[in-house]
Amino acid sequence: MVILKGAEVSAKIKEQAEKDLRIIKEKTGKTPKLAIVRIGEKPDDLSYERGAKKKLESFGLETEVYPFPEEISHQEFKAEFEKINEDCNITGILLLKPLPKQINEKEIDSIIDPSKDMDGISPVNIAKIFAGEESGYAPCTAEAVIETLKANQIPISGKRTVIVGRSMIVGKPLSMLLLKENATVTICHTKTVNLKETCQEAEILVAAAGRGKMLNQDYVGSGAVVIDVGINVDENGRLCGDVDFESIEGLASMATPVPGGVGAVTTAVLAKHLVKAAMEHLPS
Ligand code: NAD
Repeated sequence: MVILKGAEVSAKIKEQAEKDLRIIKEKTGKTPKLAIVRIGEKPDDLSYERGAKKKLESFGLETEVYPFPEEISHQEFKAEFEKINEDCNITGILLLKPLPKQINEKEIDSIIDPSKDMDGISPVNIAKIFAGEESGYAPCTAEAVIETLKANQIPISGKRTVIVGRSMIVGKPLSMLLLKENATVTICHTKTVNLKETCQEAEILVAAAGRGKMLNQDYVGSGAVVIDVGINVDENGRLCGDVDFESIEGLASMATPVPGGVGAVTTAVLAKHLVKAAMEHLPS
């Protein structure tokens, strides 16, 4: 089984981004800047924030964290978010989710400037993904799956592709990105019957259920390419994916590890989005 390492995919994304970044610096003298907006101090958010900062800095990009207290009211947060949204020194925004329950998440999603929406939360960008338009921004994790397949020259067109998970951040947008690449897509979820049999049929199987080691040898067909999006903590406190990696070793032809797989690509896609946003605002 070939192990598809995220670092290699990330390095390829970086190569292209660096070329564009040189043009941006020549034309504007500025470095693109990402605002990371965080409410509270959830360990998951802090860990993603650290990873994102490190990756963007390694691409030569700037980041600034905008932290807010957990108990901030909706109106107060909305006012602060609008200031960040309108700040012309900020190229792109990453809003760490989920937000506390007093915040109307849908309203915030709808006010983010679509041209600064680096993780595809704006209804405008979601519509673009459904229309197969490339001018918007897809959620970074969904796009990271496509980048992983393409960087490893894995054919997508015509392939039976099964996604386990239908969230707005992974499963649903990924289904549209795969359709754009002409895959035959099936989305599975908690109400899917015959989940094992459906997964076994997949030539490309994407695990995005958030259930540690759930997909074992019973779910994977011989020769399948397995992309594991899950990030979970196992009984020993170690990071693990949704796939029981060891049990599929003799079955799958290729698979992404956790950690070191899709997660590393996700932050590279975030960096790529920031560079794309800066390129779109270049003076003519
Ligand atoms: P979510 O909880 O919003 O959605 C999970 C989806 O999986 C749901 O649609 C649900 O129907 C489905 N599901 C859950 N249990 C199932 C089961 N037993 N059988 C079939 N379907 C089932 O989660 P999410 O935000 O989409 O994240 C999914 C996983 O990906 C999590 O482990 C998360 O930590 C990880 N994640 C990774 C990255 C990354 O950068 N690699 C980014 C975002 C999320």
